[in-house]
Amino acid sequence: MENCIFCKIIKGDIPSPRLYEDDKMIVIKDIEPKAKLHYLCIPKTHFALLSEMDSEKAETLKHCFAKIAQLEETLGLQDGYRVIVNQGENGGQTVHHLHIHLLGGEKLGDF
Ligand code: 5GP
Ligand code: ZN
Repeated sequence: MENCIFCKIIKGDIPSPRLYEDDKMIVIKDIEPKAKLHYLCIPKTHFALLSEMDSEKAETLKHCFAKIAQLEETLGLQDGYRVIVNQGENGGQTVHHLHIHLLGGEKLGDF
């Protein structure tokens, strides 16, 4: 989608090293890390909210979560991590292309 920063990263218009990529998703480092390790898992399909999900998007998200589990050690998350999907205004979502935050590499505070 035009003017979507994550679509531009996925297309390669904005360079961002990928820690993992396949036909459905990429994993990159967050540009402003909120923990020692902070990754973004970004589905290649553009949609903003879980409420937009249909069966195809659900399959994509299922793939993302299954792959995240496989990548734990590679990403240094084997001691545990936090998964966050911010939604909309109250959720503090700033990029309106659904993405999964992975935070770890240290003991995280309560929230
Ligand atoms: P949200 O607030 O929408 O849940 O998360 C958006 C995240 O994307 C933020 O943590 C922000 O630091 C990250 N971000 C925004 N622009 C870029 C970028 O150009 N590159 C990378 N790697 N991360 C970005
Ligand atoms: Zn997008």
